[in-house]
Amino acid sequence: MDINHSTGENVITSTKGYMWFLSLNIIICAWLLLRGTHRPDIESLPQLLQILCGCIIALSAINLIITLKIKKNINDGFYHAVLPFVVLAFGLLWSVIFLNFTLYYQNPLITLMLTVSVLLPATITFFISGRLLLLFSTPLALCLLYVETYLQDQFSVVQFAGVLIMLLVIYSARYILLEWYQRVQRSEYEKNILIKKLVQQAHYDALTGLFNRLSMASFFEECVSALSDSNKKLFMIVLDIDYFKQYNDRYGHVTGDKCLIKVSQCIEQSLRKESDSAFRFGGEEFVVMTVCNEISQAKAISQRIQQNIAHAHIPHKGSAISSVLTVSQGIAQWREGMTLEELVEQADKQLYQAKENGRDRVCY
Ligand code: GH3
Ligand code: MG
Ligand code: MG
Repeated sequence: MDINHSTGENVITSTKGYMWFLSLNIIICAWLLLRGTHRPDIESLPQLLQILCGCIIALSAINLIITLKIKKNINDGFYHAVLPFVVLAFGLLWSVIFLNFTLYYQNPLITLMLTVSVLLPATITFFISGRLLLLFSTPLALCLLYVETYLQDQFSVVQFAGVLIMLLVIYSARYILLEWYQRVQRSEYEKNILIKKLVQQAHYDALTGLFNRLSMASFFEECVSALSDSNKKLFMIVLDIDYFKQYNDRYGHVTGDKCLIKVSQCIEQSLRKESDSAFRFGGEEFVVMTVCNEISQAKAISQRIQQNIAHAHIPHKGSAISSVLTVSQGIAQWREGMTLEELVEQADKQLYQAKENGRDRVCY
């Protein structure tokens, strides 16, 4: 099995390449069969060769139909397992054809030419899989060796070297193609990783891993369009850490960052996966958008956040209201026609109220 290490796929050949190979098999056999029909100076093929060419055409046509039917990937499941047998059948059939060709016409040059014209497309098609190429080329090489020996009535080292050189040419071509293919695969893989990274950076906050402010707009649009088909409501919770400037001043920015991560974890733990999403709005401010039936459900989320942060016991000696870190929250409900900015503004007003009323509370 040939594994593409950069993607982990079990690729043995390309579907398009395989279809090209099958078509060429049909064309070469059809040419052999039809070659003598219009020219009296060329005698038509003997019956056995006609049958063998017919077999290759039939095998190619069946494979072509199956490949067209499965359409997607030839490297999947059943076909992946069956392909070595099919390729071996092609190699054996061509060997028998070349053998009979040489015995009939007593001309090894025709055999050599035909062998090359069949081996070349096979090398291009099966270069990814050394096993498939071996299954196809071994019967042909053995046939060529036998033909040369048989016609000359003795084993010749020169002929043997000729066959070896032919195999060497095929396998060196395979390695050149393979190297190029792996380079393309590697760069494709690296490109995909880069795209993933860019998507990650575009949608997520690098510090907390929550969605970033930019992705709020698309989430808001999705929620609003989903609301029109249901009786549900959209609520926004804006959350701000109390006295975070003092936290930074007292514990330093690095601990401040760790604190932001902890708070974001507390927020995530408080959400219902299918209907709520949390965003880092900027600095020490977070936003939660929730689709629910009643305001009580949005309030419940806020209370869970408050409890989870309280249970986290993050010491905050610089806070004027508590010995541990607290947050203030404002909730607003989306009304028909409201823009995202208007909804944020409404929630912000409530947050301001929560701060004014003494912090560590939720206002609606
Ligand atoms: P209030 O209770 O009224 O919200 O007061 P506050 O101190 O939390 O609010 P203020 O807006 O005065 O200060 C916010 C602080 O958040 C100031 C800034 O240094 C800090 N901050 C913003 N972003 C980051 C960050 O990414 N990491 C760290 N460590 N601090 C940040
Ligand atoms: Mg703030
Ligand atoms: Mg604050």
